Amino acid sequence: MLNRNFDVLIVGSGHGGAQTAIALRQSGFGGTIAIVSAEDDLPYERPPLSKDYLSGDRPFERILIRPATFWRDKDIAMLLGRRVVSVDPQAHVAALSDNSPLFYRTLVWAAGGVARRLACTGGDLAGVHSVRTRADVDRLMRELDRVTRVVVVGGGYIGLEAAAILTQLGKRVTLLEAAPRVLARVAGEPLSRFYEEEHRARGVDLRVGVEVACLEGRDGAVRRVRLADGQAIDCEMVIVGIGIAPAVAPLLAAGAAGSDGVDVDEYCRTSLPDILAVGDCAAHVNTFAGGKRIRLESVQNANDQAAVAARSIVGALRPYDAAPWFWSNQYDLRLQTVGLSAGHDATVIRGDMASRSFSVVYLKNRRVVALDCVNSTKDYAQGRALVAARAAVPPDQLADTSRPLKEFAAEAAI
Ligand SMILES: Cc1cc2nc3c(=O)[nH]c(=O)nc-3n(C[C@H](O)[C@H](O)[C@H](O)COP(=O)(O)OP(=O)(O)OC[C@H]3O[C@@H](n4cnc5c(N)ncnc54)[C@H](O)[C@@H]3O)c2cc1C
Repeated sequence: MLNRNFDVLIVGSGHGGAQTAIALRQSGFGGTIAIVSAEDDLPYERPPLSKDYLSGDRPFERILIRPATFWRDKDIAMLLGRRVVSVDPQAHVAALSDNSPLFYRTLVWAAGGVARRLACTGGDLAGVHSVRTRADVDRLMRELDRVTRVVVVGGGYIGLEAAAILTQLGKRVTLLEAAPRVLARVAGEPLSRFYEEEHRARGVDLRVGVEVACLEGRDGAVRRVRLADGQAIDCEMVIVGIGIAPAVAPLLAAGAAGSDGVDVDEYCRTSLPDILAVGDCAAHVNTFAGGKRIRLESVQNANDQAAVAARSIVGALRPYDAAPWFWSNQYDLRLQTVGLSAGHDATVIRGDMASRSFSVVYLKNRRVVALDCVNSTKDYAQGRALVAARAAVPPDQLADTSRPLKEFAAEAAI
């Protein structure tokens, strides 16, 4: 018989949900914990889905966040393949899609987001894929043998990573981005142009400033992408990487504050009693975004908010104030990012971009707010302190690669 009463009920088995349960047990929490998830799999890492899992280099067992025995040993119940459709905050009940109830003392909403689909005609043809879950990628991989031409829609990290892997697998890839440059939402122009050149040099037909009008098919399967200017691109597969919609409808319907995500305070508490939220779906005020309320879609954010939520549950409150970081692997390029570059007013390039090992330093009001480090782990490791302290360093000095970034950190007395 399914136990239906839990001290902590966690909705979502991604990085945020899994890490909340792990952090609770690490803190000595002895109450009952369950993770309920719409996915059938035990918690796994999502980043490899567009990297070495997609390439076939890393099997599923090696992307599990913990081995199966861990959850049993730690007495964390896994209610997999079940979706929470509504929440009654007063009664402390979450209802599953078959209407059965789960009772909780504390609810942690870690439901992430749902991949946005193309809204145009043909968006639901066979051969059109998202890259959000293991099931998505398995479906896509099963078709790959029959595919020679792929169109990737979206020049964000996921689209670019997928384009890199598919090119390396020998597919002919066209990448379409509606904005005037790739990575426009998350990086400065020098980095965008660098990645555009890298992809083109490896044979990707990368087009920016183009709009998809519709997808055309034959026998129910996609065969062509039609652009707004009338051009057509023949293909057997389309991969859509145009962002996510946060999965928060049941919480908003229950009266939680929020719109693009569910609003949380610095302790990851929503406006509803005994309901916290973490990860991609949690809209929080972030000091690294100049105090704006934002959602971050990163493993760092999911894990660090999970640690904060676990502390809130056991009454050892600690506010969320972690510096954002992120990474992306494309070809032999390892990008490591720290801070948030949105709103920067100056950039400094450290190193020679042609050498394919360099960093872009982002400044706002003369202070370092972010770094994008390409094959430059030293800058990344040493630049973190500059971002955390928002250090004021003259641009000409930042550009001087003979001076390691840790020198500036020392000068700024960080
Ligand atoms: C292909 C890909 C590559 C990425 N690469 C990177 C990277 O290189 N670096 C990085 O930092 N980040 C990367 N990310 C982002 C990172 O994976 C996410 O930020 C992270 O997974 C967010 O964790 P989460 O727990 O908030 O949500 P998710 O991982 O999305 O987990 C949410 C879970 O909740 C479940 N769920 C949703 N609604 C319900 C419901 N109503 N009832 C029950 N269960 C529900 C979902 O099925 C899902 O299992 C990548 C993401 C993707 C998709």
